[in-house]
Order: sequence, then C-alpha cells, then structure tokens
Amino acid sequence: MKPETRNSKRKAASPATSKPEVRIGYGFDSHEFRAGIPLRIGGVALAHDRGLGGHSDGDVLLHAITDALLGAIAAPDIGALFPPSDAKWKGADSVIFLREALKRVRNAGYGVANLDASLILAAPKVGPHAAEIRKHVAELLGVDHDCVGLKAKTPEGLNLENAALAHVVVLLEKVPRGRKKR
Ligand code: MG
Repeated sequence: MKPETRNSKRKAASPATSKPEVRIGYGFDSHEFRAGIPLRIGGVALAHDRGLGGHSDGDVLLHAITDALLGAIAAPDIGALFPPSDAKWKGADSVIFLREALKRVRNAGYGVANLDASLILAAPKVGPHAAEIRKHVAELLGVDHDCVGLKAKTPEGLNLENAALAHVVVLLEKVPRGRKKR
C-alpha cells in the first residue's frame, strides 16, 4: 500500500479529476476468407490456401487488439481512425493501427498489463503457431510473453466456416509520471 501524501489525499477528494489505476478494454473483429491472398494473424504469416479479406491486410487479431486498446482509453475506434473509405489504408500493414493505438494509450498515461485473446476459425489450425503469435504480439505490445494469452477455437455450430473471428480483452495500468513504460 502506498503511503498517503497530500497529493493522494487531494486526488481522493476529487475523484472526477483522477484517472483510474487500471482500465479494461474489449475488442472484436471478423473477416471473411478469400482465395489468393496471404493469411496474417497477429502479424505472423501462416501457410494456408486462403487469406482474410479486408481493406487492410485483414489481420483480424491485430484489429481486435487495436480496438481493445482504443476502447480502454475511450478513444475513437479503428474504423474511425483508419476509415476503409480512405485509399491510404488499402493493403496496409495492421501493425500501423496497433502502434497508433499504443501511442494513444501511452499518451493517456497508461501501459499494457496483460492481454487475452480468443480466435475462432475452422482452419488452419492455430495451435502449432500459437507460441509464435503470442511472442510476436507480446513484442509489439512491449510486454512479457506470459502476459499474452491466446486460445483458438473452431466455430462449432456457428456456421462460420469461411470466417475468422477474434475477441480480445486488455488490461491497462497507469504508468507513474517519470517512469517510461516500454
Ligand atoms: Mg478488421
């Protein structure tokens, strides 16, 4: 427990002006499989006969992570920041979106504590690539590998054989002034 200071007393007295110590964010995304394009999930290229269509590179996991980060700080969502109507984002590397969201999180005074994701897709099998995807996402976020959870599910009973879905929750923690979060 932190020692009580004049500053902390003042903050406690005016909760409207003090930021929460932690904030949670949730993101969801889905993309349809299309033939003839590469498959990227979590910034990792996976060998498959189809990729995920979309205006950018269709990286369903990075999009859901980006929206979870933006949602945690109540910022505009990925579609508002990078509208599909803008030709600039055609075929864009989704890491660009994630980096912008991270920058906003840091500017708001927060860093990522941990993240948990569920991927839902019929094929390819994510299991053999899960460690690589987790490692890559952890590096992008600047957190330890054991702070990124990833579960892969098949869309049983959902009739979504030609789509990939991602659900993500992220926890942010306030970064003390003067200390730089990676
Ligand atoms: Mg998307």
